[in-house]
Amino acid sequence: MNQHAPIRIGHTACPHDCPSTCALDVELIDDRTIGRVHGAKDNSYTAGVICAKVARYAERVHNPGRLLKPMVRAGAKGDGNWKEASWEAALDLIAEKFIATEERHGTEAVWPYYYAGTMGLVQRDGIHRLRHAKKYSGFFDTICTNLAWTGWMMGAGDLRGADPREMAKSDCVVIWGTNAVVTQVNVMTHAVHARKNRGARIVVIDVYDNPTMKQADMGLILKPGTDGALACAVMHVLFRDGLADRAYLEKYTDDPKGLEAHLASRTPEWASAITGLSVEEIEAFARLVGTTKRTFFRLGYGFARQRNGTVNMHAAMSIAAVTGCWQYEGGGAFHSNSGIFRMDKSELEGTRLRDPRIRHLDQSRIGPILTNDSSALNGGPPVTAMLVQNTNPANVCPEQRLVIAGMKREDLFMAVHEQFMTDTAKLADVVLPATMFLEHDDIYRGGGNQHIILGPKLIDPPEGPRTNHFVIEELAKRLGVSHMPGFGKTERDHIDTILRSRDLGTFDTFREERWADVQPPFEEAHFLTGFGHPDGKFRFRPDWTGTPAPGKPPKSIGLMGDIARLPEFPDHVDLIEVADHEHPFRLATSPARSFLNSSFTETPTGRKREGRPELLVHPADAAALGLATGDRVEIGNRRGDVVLHAKLFDGVRRGVVIAEGIWPNDAHERGEGINVLTGSDAAAPYGGVAFHDNRVWVRPVD
Ligand code: SF4
Repeated sequence: MNQHAPIRIGHTACPHDCPSTCALDVELIDDRTIGRVHGAKDNSYTAGVICAKVARYAERVHNPGRLLKPMVRAGAKGDGNWKEASWEAALDLIAEKFIATEERHGTEAVWPYYYAGTMGLVQRDGIHRLRHAKKYSGFFDTICTNLAWTGWMMGAGDLRGADPREMAKSDCVVIWGTNAVVTQVNVMTHAVHARKNRGARIVVIDVYDNPTMKQADMGLILKPGTDGALACAVMHVLFRDGLADRAYLEKYTDDPKGLEAHLASRTPEWASAITGLSVEEIEAFARLVGTTKRTFFRLGYGFARQRNGTVNMHAAMSIAAVTGCWQYEGGGAFHSNSGIFRMDKSELEGTRLRDPRIRHLDQSRIGPILTNDSSALNGGPPVTAMLVQNTNPANVCPEQRLVIAGMKREDLFMAVHEQFMTDTAKLADVVLPATMFLEHDDIYRGGGNQHIILGPKLIDPPEGPRTNHFVIEELAKRLGVSHMPGFGKTERDHIDTILRSRDLGTFDTFREERWADVQPPFEEAHFLTGFGHPDGKFRFRPDWTGTPAPGKPPKSIGLMGDIARLPEFPDHVDLIEVADHEHPFRLATSPARSFLNSSFTETPTGRKREGRPELLVHPADAAALGLATGDRVEIGNRRGDVVLHAKLFDGVRRGVVIAEGIWPNDAHERGEGINVLTGSDAAAPYGGVAFHDNRVWVRPVD
């Protein structure tokens, strides 16, 4: 390479499962090699800032551990014996097994399983086209969003909110239940801008003193699953002290008087006993948001990962409706913009081919499903064949022991299309090597912002890996459905169709523009034209079972969890795993800085930075247990047990322990990961996994 030639820059979007969906500028060294990755300075949300793990993406894309050849199992499941195969032979084998399954048990015995390993629409969602064409079992997508989105929808009636760039114009930014420094760094960019330029206060609410809280002016550490109690006490103070905006309440909300009466007993003292916060902390926070018109509530997913998470989300967002901060630029609330994009994926997903009689299976309940729990199988046959793309359920799904026991069933055939030899790939019958985002075409939308961003192929993949789209198309040919609508097209054809559905041109024209900013106008984003319910009002009294919302279970599954205990108004409900004598601690499985779910655990710098799987334990609890930093410690519950290393940490409430991850299973000394401890029972009312809601015992290991 000419040392003086300017480095070529390619433009794309971050494909990972992070609300920021950063616009990226990638240094292109040659046709196969990248250098550093930067945030696009001219994208108004990314604003030139990305997280460190993606900045050093060269470590991931050029990683010597990447899968490069299709492989077929040559020994017992999971024993590591493989033989290499050609792509032709591997795809033929998968098709042969799927056809045999179908003939023996019916089409519903095949379960294509995918998730958010890439958020690119084409490479992620094309699997539905094959599912629908073949009448394979449906996929009820619950694991990440259902608890949080349902709570938001119950209040606002639409999945949008104040422009997240407005955080830079706020006087108070409340970052609630999201460790933004770790998982969506751009939130910090805009919040810190407001502090520097306007003297804004940053409040962080979480279950431990994480890197985001360390940047806060006010940090509130509460017990997991008690956010609803904090929200109620804040609203109690707002009504009590004349800080509620009664004109706004009258115009924009359903039952402010009913709410006020309900909150009369939800005092700071009441909430203090539940949350672990002091009365003074609750009063100070309430006063701050009640007297600061431009208060922006940035509500994350983390605090909703409780069995009462939907209730907590609804309660937290209700504060903004009581103060009326929605009316001001820099004020209001935001959780996700997923409702604003309205891109037509019907051809990509083969929606027309869908047969409504086919059963759905809940993604989060893969453990019970694969171990043949009849209620989880929803009245249909056992699952005996799977294609897994873009996800690592043997590591990231709850009740890991069940997931792995199911995957080890001799009568289950599993093909896994992956970038690395993940915990799931290790248990496969056939492993196919997958491309990474820089090596294929795709298009992205930002749930945590307002951009649609093109992700064109920037470099050639190594010899071997193929795209998800290729695998779906090749299987369709072998399974006799490639003549059906939506098949036989290229990635760019699908991108053209999606872009045209939004009047955004085609792949070629959009490549020049790089992205589109589809932020709704201020009045609409702030719901000043009315909330999304038919009467235009914000609902303090949610209709938990009747409101149509994204994520509502299909009829074949129905509403889930303990619906009868969902409250009439915002409240605290003990729909959580309350600690008991046998399990005196509550465990949250929070994200690590250098990993993103199970991605990035293969990169050397990230792995080194994280060290080893640890358990954060309050020093007083550690003293009572006879633990010191570095000691081996077992945490367990009726679902299983895991050994970690203790780390004394005073930034957490007593009785609460934190395990940051997600580490690969074999990073733990017994070869099982943290999700051995998490539960797969469906939370009310639409399901979802309560990853941070686990009662556990904690014991020193000799
Ligand atoms: S902050 Fe999130 S979206 Fe941005 S580069 Fe990092 S992982 Fe990707």
